[in-house]
Amino acid sequence: NRQVYTFGGGVKHDDPRAKDKVITGGKGANLAEMAGIGLPVPPGFTITTEQCVTYLAEGGDFSGALRADVAEALTHIEKAVGKSFGNAADPLLVSVRSGARVSMPGMMDTVLNLGLNDQTVEGLATVSGDDRFAWDSYRRFIQMYSDVVLGVEHHLFEEALEIAKEDSGYLNDVEMSADDWRKIVKQYKGIVEAELSRPFPQDVNEQLWGAIRAVFDSWDSDRAKVYRRLNDIPAGWGTAVNVQAMVFGNMGDTSATGVAFTRDPATGEKAYYGEWLVNAQGEDVVAGIRTPQYLTRAAREKAGAKPLSMEEAMPEAYGELAAVFELLEKHYRDMQDIEFTVQQGKLWMLQTRSGKRTAKAALKMAVDMVGEGLIDEKMAILRVDPMALDQLLHPTLDPKAPRDFLGKGLPASPGAASGAIVFDADSAEKRAEMGEAVILVRIETSPEDIHGMHAAKGILTARGGMTSHAAVVARGMGRPCVSGASGLSIDMKTRTLKMGGRELKEGDILTLDGASGDIMAGEVPTIEPELAGDFATLMVWADKHRRMKVRTNAETPADCKMARQFGAEGIGLCRTEHMFFDAGRISAVRQMILAEDEAGRRAALEKLLPEQRADFAAIFEIMRGLPVTIRLLDPPLHEFLPHEDAEFAELSDEIGIGVDTLKRRANELHEFNPMLGHRGCRLGITFPEIYEMQARAIFEAACDVAKAHGEAIVPEIMIPLVATKKELEILKALVARVAAQVFEEKGTTLEYMAGTMIELPRAALMAGEIAEEGEFFSFGTNDLTQTTLGLSRDDAGKFLPVYVQQGIFARDPFVSLDVEGVGQLVELAAERGRAARPGIKLGICGEHGGDPASIAFCEKTGLDYVSASPFRVPIARLAAAQAVL
Ligand code: PEP
Ligand code: MG
Repeated sequence: NRQVYTFGGGVKHDDPRAKDKVITGGKGANLAEMAGIGLPVPPGFTITTEQCVTYLAEGGDFSGALRADVAEALTHIEKAVGKSFGNAADPLLVSVRSGARVSMPGMMDTVLNLGLNDQTVEGLATVSGDDRFAWDSYRRFIQMYSDVVLGVEHHLFEEALEIAKEDSGYLNDVEMSADDWRKIVKQYKGIVEAELSRPFPQDVNEQLWGAIRAVFDSWDSDRAKVYRRLNDIPAGWGTAVNVQAMVFGNMGDTSATGVAFTRDPATGEKAYYGEWLVNAQGEDVVAGIRTPQYLTRAAREKAGAKPLSMEEAMPEAYGELAAVFELLEKHYRDMQDIEFTVQQGKLWMLQTRSGKRTAKAALKMAVDMVGEGLIDEKMAILRVDPMALDQLLHPTLDPKAPRDFLGKGLPASPGAASGAIVFDADSAEKRAEMGEAVILVRIETSPEDIHGMHAAKGILTARGGMTSHAAVVARGMGRPCVSGASGLSIDMKTRTLKMGGRELKEGDILTLDGASGDIMAGEVPTIEPELAGDFATLMVWADKHRRMKVRTNAETPADCKMARQFGAEGIGLCRTEHMFFDAGRISAVRQMILAEDEAGRRAALEKLLPEQRADFAAIFEIMRGLPVTIRLLDPPLHEFLPHEDAEFAELSDEIGIGVDTLKRRANELHEFNPMLGHRGCRLGITFPEIYEMQARAIFEAACDVAKAHGEAIVPEIMIPLVATKKELEILKALVARVAAQVFEEKGTTLEYMAGTMIELPRAALMAGEIAEEGEFFSFGTNDLTQTTLGLSRDDAGKFLPVYVQQGIFARDPFVSLDVEGVGQLVELAAERGRAARPGIKLGICGEHGGDPASIAFCEKTGLDYVSASPFRVPIARLAAAQAVL
C-alpha cells in the first residue's frame, strides 16, 4: 500500500485509498476528490494517517522508503507548477497541514510559506515583482515555523514586531515596507538563534521534514487530546499530513482569501455564508486579527456594513466561487465548509469538508435537502446528530422579559445562557465544578481555552468573526456564543469588563443570546423551545423507520406531560421513591423507615396510601392509552434519613417519638454500603406491608381511572434488584393477593403484568429461571454497570475521568453502556429470558436508554423499547431510527 498520494496537477488515481478519509484524512481525501472533479486545487500530496500511527508508536527517524516517496511526490508538484523546491531563482513554496479523519478545528499544526530561506526569498521577490510581499512572507514563515516546529515562543516575535512598529510610528502591519520586513526577518532570525543556540534552518528539506514531524507530533498535543476526549475521537486514528503548493491571497488587491459555507451554518438557511479578506493569508481570517468582510452583497446590506462584499469587489472570482459551491453541494449532497484563495484574480480551492452546523441548521438543512431532492428521508435521519437535538430542546430567552441590554456581538452559536462572568478557562472550569453557571469572557479564544469553553454555559469574545475559533468550537459543543463584540473591553488586571458605558466585575451575572448576539447584564428568564416545524418533520420520519419503542423515566405529572409532548410512548420506569421526596410527605416516609415494628410502619403507610393513589391516578390519567411501568420502592434508605439535629427535632414533634429514639433507630439503620444494602426487593421481602401499600395504591388508582374513562389501564408492576427467582415468586404472589383484594372491593377487575428489573449479574445469569416468574424484564443498566464493574455509582465520578483520559474506558460506562462487558450480560439475559418465556417484553431503563451508542446496542440485541428521561426522548427516537438504518 502506498503511503504518499499526490493530487492536483492532472493526476488520476484508481487507488481508492487516496480518497478514503481513514487513510488520507478528511482534508487529503477531499482535496483528491475536488481535484478529481476538475476543481482548481493547487497540486500537492498527502502522507497517510498510517504513517502517523507508525511514527508515534515507533518514534525515531522516518524510513528511507518514505523519504523517497515524498521526494517523488515533491517532483510531481514541481512539474505541475513549474517551480522547484529550494530553487533560488524561482522557488516552490508549500504549505504543510494536518488532516485527521474528522476535522479538529485549530487543534493541530499548520506551517505556511515553507521553502523560504535567505536565497529563495530573493527569487520570490524577483518572480513576483513584489519585494514587500516576499519579505512579509519570509517573516511569516519564520514566525510560524519557529512557533510550531522549533518551539520558540510566539510572543517573542510579536513583541519584536510591536516595538518595530512603535519605533516607526506605525499603527498597522500594512504600513510596514519591504525594508521594514527585511529588518524584522533579521531580528527574527536573531531571536531563533538566541533561543536555540543554532540558526534558523536554511535547508528546505530540513524545513519540510521538521514540519512533517511537527504535524505528526501535534496529534498528541495536550489540546488535541482534550479535543479528542470531548469528541470521542480515538487516539489510534492519527493525522495525515498534506503538503501543497502555496497560492497567495496576499499578492495585492486582486488577491484575497476566505472561508465560506454553502448554507448558513447557524440557521441552515439556503444562502451562501462566508467571510473574506483582500490581500491576506488564510490565517488572518480565522485568527480574528483583522475583521473579515461579508461574502455576499445581501449579507453585507443586511448587516449595514460598509466594506464591499466579495460579490461586489471581485464579481468574476465570486461568480466562479458560487459555481463551485453548487457543484460541491451536488457532489457531496451536503453543506460544505470551504477555504479558498484568489491569487491575482485566479480562484483556488484549498479545502472542502462537510460543514459543522448548529442543531437548528442541521435539522433545517436535512429537511430542506429532502425537499430539494438532494437526499432521501433515511439520509436526512442520519444527518442529524441525536445528541445535538439537546440544543433545540433547551430554553431560549423569554422575548417579553425585561432586559438590561449592554451591547451586541455576532450571533456565533445559538441558545441562551446566564452565568457568572469569568475571564479565563481555568477559573471557568473551577467554578463550574463547584456547580456554578459561568460565562467565559475572553478577548479571543484559542485552542488552549477549550476546557473552559466546555465548562462554561456560554462564551463571549471581543474579537473574531463567525468562523473564529470561539465560534466554530462553541457551535460544535452546542454552547451559546457571542463573538466579535467590539464594544467590549476587558481589563485582566482588575478583572472587570466594560461595555455600553457600564463596568461589570468577575462573578457578576451576564446573559448571552447566541441567536441574536445580544449581551445583557443580570439574568433573563427563558422559555421552552418550539417543537413544531422541521423538528416535528424529522421526528415523524424517525418514527416511521424505527423499530424500538421509546418510553420515558418519569414520576411527576409535569415530567410525564413533558415526556408525552416529546413523544414518549409510555413510562418505562416510574421510580416511586422519588415521589416520596416531596416536602409534605417526607416525614411520613421517615416515620415508616424509622418505625420499630410492623404496627409503626403500617401507621405511616396509612398516611402514604392516599397520596400514592393520587400520584398513580394522575400518571395513569396523563398516560392514558400508553403502558406505564411502576417500580415498587427501591430506596437506598440512607437517602431518606434525617441528618441534622433540627430535622430530628422536627420529625420528633410531628410523629411524637423522642429524638433519642429516632437517633438510635437511624443509627441502627446505618449501612456501610447502602447501594448493596437493604434496598429493592429486599425491602419488600422483609417489610411486605410497604409493597402491599404500593400495590394497593396502584390497583385502586388503575381501577378508578379505568372506570372514569371506560378504558383499559394495564399497569406493569416492576420488582427491583431481584437476584433470585424465589424473591420474585414471593413478591409476585404478594402483588396478586393485593390485586384480588382490590378487585373484590371494587367489584371489578383489570389486567396487569408483574415483571422485574435485571440489575444484578446473578439476575442476568439466572434470567431463564427468573423469566418463569417475571412477565417482562427491564434492564436497570445503572445498577448492572455498578455491580458488574464493581464501580460505585456515587463515587466513581472522582476517578472515572482519569480512566477515560488514559483510555481504560473509551467513555464513562455510566453514560455509554460498556457494550463489551455489561453488554454481554444483557445479551445473555435477553436470550435466556426469551428461551424460557417466548416473546417476553424486554426494555432498558438505565441512563443508557438515552445514549445513542447504547441505543444502537439495544437495537442489535432486539430489545422492545428504551426508556429515557423526558428531554432525552427525542434523542432516543432519532437514535433508534438511526440504529436500524
Ligand atoms: C438502574 O439501576 O439502571 C435503574 C434504572 O434504577 P435506579 O437508577 O433507580 O437504580
Ligand atoms: Mg437500579
